[in-house]
Amino acid sequence: MSTAELVNIPNKEGYFGEYGGVFLPPELQKIMEEITAEYNAIRESSEFQQELKSLYQHYVGRPSPIFFAESLTKKTGGAKIYFKREDLNHTGAHKINHCLGEVLLAKKMGKKKVIAETGAGQHGVALATAAALLGLECDIYMGEVDIKKEHPNVIRMKILGAKVVPVQSGLKTLKEAVDEAFTAYVQDPVTQLYAIGSVVGPHPFPMMVRDFQSVVGYEAREQFREMTGGKPDHLVACVGGGSNAIGLFTAFLEDEDIKIYGVEPSGLSFKPGEHAATMTLGTTGVIHGFKSYLLQDEEGNPLPVYSVASGLDYPGVGPEHSYLKDIGRIKYETITDKEAIDAFFELSRVEGIIPALESAHAVSYAVKLAASLPADESILVNLSGRGDKDIDYVTAKYGKDYGVIDQ
Ligand SMILES: *Cc1c(COP(=O)(O)O)cnc(C)c1O
Repeated sequence: MSTAELVNIPNKEGYFGEYGGVFLPPELQKIMEEITAEYNAIRESSEFQQELKSLYQHYVGRPSPIFFAESLTKKTGGAKIYFKREDLNHTGAHKINHCLGEVLLAKKMGKKKVIAETGAGQHGVALATAAALLGLECDIYMGEVDIKKEHPNVIRMKILGAKVVPVQSGLKTLKEAVDEAFTAYVQDPVTQLYAIGSVVGPHPFPMMVRDFQSVVGYEAREQFREMTGGKPDHLVACVGGGSNAIGLFTAFLEDEDIKIYGVEPSGLSFKPGEHAATMTLGTTGVIHGFKSYLLQDEEGNPLPVYSVASGLDYPGVGPEHSYLKDIGRIKYETITDKEAIDAFFELSRVEGIIPALESAHAVSYAVKLAASLPADESILVNLSGRGDKDIDYVTAKYGKDYGVIDQ
């Protein structure tokens, strides 16, 4: 196929090759069709694009810079390592890019409220921020277990004026939160919009969230050309649901000479329940209303997943990633907890940048890759977020090993 077709995917029904689509009961299918129609109309409007661009510039602080990590490059030996600094965005990660897009869309559609689930709370905080700014109500569904674990993010959401709805069913974590948020959404799809947290879920969400995140790659392309006069030879990003990765990659998919790597967490091991390496070990199936690679048991139930980075532990992955894997455009690699923690401290100590544990997976793979390449090649890494949210956990669990707390 010609590469020009890559950027125009999905088709009208929301399929990227065989992946994506809408696997929902009829009443929800109708709602998705309405959102698709409204989004297709609004995305063409220059007023919407201008408003979003203005928010990116004046509220988020875009464009985020590109940084040549000279010390890390020297220490590693090999290809030059560059970072796209999404960690410098308002709220500390890339998620604000699609949350602003989704809340602005909700507002244009005349909705009063956005609702969503959250696991570790990062999507909840970014959505609560966008809702506060644009004057919409915000309900965040969160499992009771996660509420106890992620206390600071619960407080942040409440300070921002969002309602945190505790979910008490089942294991009281992310899966149950998704179920209850969906139930609440079906009860009133007229005044509410469900704001999905990555390039996952039924059509049009994988396309819509990709469109909002693609600003990352289009900016980076321009900045990299200004800085070096050329294009990067390699791109690297971590993959949970896949939004920061697709955000960087979209602008470069047509450049066949650029090699692209998505990095998944192999956690503690490749045993079920100890990783979230969906692309590496998954099989095709349906989850949360769309078809993609999944970690699932024989009956098609999602398997338990784990990663030291809670933003990466999802048993599915965005359908566009599954498609890009199958056609061989993107290679998916894995990084363990231990490697990610090493990279977390290395980037902190060599460049003075504390990365999110999710982003540390991308950093770790980029360092390995750089060491295997000649010095005239370059790697552009999406540094998806900052590590402030992770410091207490890292200190408690690894502080002794890395000299943060006394033996
Ligand atoms: C949520 C999160 C991720 C994972 O989500 P994607 O949709 O795969 O990008 C990665 N990095 C950070 C900092 C996050 O908060």
